[in-house]
Amino acid sequence: KHVVIGGGTGYVGSCIATALHSLNVRTTIISRMPGPNRISWQHLETNGLPNDTTAVINVAGQNILDFTQRWTPGFKQNVYNSRVKTNDQLVKAITNSDVKTFITISGVAYYPPDGKEYSEYDKCEKYDFLSELTHDWEKASELPDGCSTRRAIVRSGVVLGRTGGMIKQTFLPFFLGVGGPLGSGDQYMPWIHIKDLVNIFIHILKNDNVSGVYNGVAPELVTNAKFTKAFASALTRPAFFPVPGFLLKMLLNEERAKVMLEGQKVLPKRVLESGFKYEYPTIEEACKQFGVLFYSS
Ligand code: NDP
Repeated sequence: KHVVIGGGTGYVGSCIATALHSLNVRTTIISRMPGPNRISWQHLETNGLPNDTTAVINVAGQNILDFTQRWTPGFKQNVYNSRVKTNDQLVKAITNSDVKTFITISGVAYYPPDGKEYSEYDKCEKYDFLSELTHDWEKASELPDGCSTRRAIVRSGVVLGRTGGMIKQTFLPFFLGVGGPLGSGDQYMPWIHIKDLVNIFIHILKNDNVSGVYNGVAPELVTNAKFTKAFASALTRPAFFPVPGFLLKMLLNEERAKVMLEGQKVLPKRVLESGFKYEYPTIEEACKQFGVLFYSS
């Protein structure tokens, strides 16, 4: 087996690659930077996929929460193109290949943050830049009629893991006891432990009858305040210092701050129906693991 991973150098992509290696699956990464077992997007455009590719995963995307980058029209274009254009390119390459499975990541911004519960069975309209991005990202992963490749979409919530994403970014303030909820803390925070997200990708790769949309979120719905409490208590720290919403909007731009200040109620109905078993179904279990990993290292 040979899996090609767009964005395989990133946090999610490298965790998927490591999991595949432990199953003796070969991987090739598509990256903007050269390296061993890597090809460039330009190479893909010119030469297509390696001949023996059995599956393709796309987890590429300019990091929206890279706070060293200002939220300018140019940066937003990069955010958009790095997801939509990479899927366009992969679909073109897959169309002329024997690839069996194509999985793209997407985000829960597909669903509106209006307090209603949503599952994969709900069809939603675009309502802002990020929701439009998820619609176009997913549309760009559609394969032409007659193509026999199986396609799946994983709409991911905030990925929680000790070595990347939100936990890595907020570990220090929480460890120093100056962590706290974002804004009111009442907003829902669709989340998933990195191990479970990786396992959902593997589950889709392994099961030929699995296709369509899967919400990459844990079954437990939590608010940002509940997450904050669980994380701080796993680190045996207080979390008294809320980060005011207006400050985030001012520093990060209102459109981007929405990712942290608004949240959707998202349920993984199809994931559970497909027989997937979570290792970290609750926020307490997930956060406890970050605390244990830290204090034992
Ligand atoms: P990372 O920032 O860790 O990795 C992103 C990857 O995308 C890198 O490997 C990078 O590859 C590639 N990339 C970045 N910018 C560009 C660009 N302009 N053009 C082409 N490729 C680019 O992100 P994560 O692993 O955390 O996230 C992966 C995907 O999952 C993203 O699309 C993200 O939106 C989505 N997601 C992540 C969530 C999270 O909480 N982490 C939640 C929901 C969705 P290289 O530099 O090698 O070219």
